[in-house]
Amino acid sequence: MTRRSTALRAGLALVAGLALAGGVRVLNAPAPDIRETFYVFGTLLEVETHGVAEPQARQAMARVGAHLRQMHRDWHAWNPGELESLNAAIAVGQSFEVDPGLAKLLQQGRELACRSNGLFDPAVGGMVEAWGFHADTPPTGDPPADAVVATLLAGHPKMTDLTIRGTTVRSSNPAVQLDLGAYAKGAALDLAEEDLSAEGITDAVLNAGGGVQVLGDHGSRPWRVAIRDPFEWGVVGAVSLRPGEALHTSGNYERYFDKGGIRFSHIIDPRTARPMQGVVSVSVLSNNGALSDAAATALCVAGEKDWPRIAAQMGVSAVLMIADDGSMVATPEMMARLEAVEGGFPAPITVVDLPKDVAIPSCPER
Ligand code: ADP
Ligand code: MG
Repeated sequence: MTRRSTALRAGLALVAGLALAGGVRVLNAPAPDIRETFYVFGTLLEVETHGVAEPQARQAMARVGAHLRQMHRDWHAWNPGELESLNAAIAVGQSFEVDPGLAKLLQQGRELACRSNGLFDPAVGGMVEAWGFHADTPPTGDPPADAVVATLLAGHPKMTDLTIRGTTVRSSNPAVQLDLGAYAKGAALDLAEEDLSAEGITDAVLNAGGGVQVLGDHGSRPWRVAIRDPFEWGVVGAVSLRPGEALHTSGNYERYFDKGGIRFSHIIDPRTARPMQGVVSVSVLSNNGALSDAAATALCVAGEKDWPRIAAQMGVSAVLMIADDGSMVATPEMMARLEAVEGGFPAPITVVDLPKDVAIPSCPER
């Protein structure tokens, strides 16, 4: 049996248990860790605080929860809400007034899209929908017809079609349909982190299917996160996150459908209007949730050959990629942080340097 033949786990998991198994224990902790779970963008988001009394933790959680509910409503491409209204306006060539939070997120998305040469591009919502990945459950039908794919491609939707002036958004291209799924989770964790800080929380972990972000260092026992093995039960390795870091994993093993022996992932290559091929997962560690999340998606699309250049352009240096054949590649920065668990890595990891002196693409001004 090859590593390829077995399936599929979520990308990241907190491994406090592993730390305990290693003999590390926190004794006489000032206050127990407080946990709360929220539901946002089709996934569970868990917040855990350390070292504060329960009333303060609960108050901070309430603030996070209210903010997350607002994001869930406003940033969802396919449910009634602000983004859906914006998409409807774009389709008929009208400008639309959004709230400042969404304007800022779109501005950030436009910038990240340019940096990735459009491999991450939240304007491809029409392509995502055509492949059936716009619901919270994976599609069960057939791939779209070639003619449909050709039409989507000819529309060439891209973030640089958007003009964002203050809170007024318009698109010069009616084929643009915004889907923020590739970075909304990371951006939501960034905002949740700000909310916690504003409530005086300095030590916490935020965990949302495939993305983890931390404040502080869990007392003196850093928040430790496992990158799960996409092929079998177990982990690829663990990373002890430093205060402010965000680790995101994207890939083809969580949301996909199989047809005719081919796995169709929910990550679409905007250059082909078809799901990316060849990569099982990419994990990116950086100091920003939205950046880690967007880059993980972009590098899946970039593929085995081109990902180092796109990583350098996007300004991320700690990357782990797992390809279809089970081979693993990491940057030196990621390799230095990756700890073997369960007696070693599941396969040898090839270390690849990022190219130096890449030109950073900038967005055209509008
Ligand atoms: P996950 O949601 O599992 O963390 P990603 O962060 O990679 O995975 O986001 C994938 C989602 O992003 C898709 O479900 C779709 O909504 C959207 N998407 C797909 N392809 C792209 C792309 N090339 N650029 C931007 N967004 C994309
Ligand atoms: Mg992503």
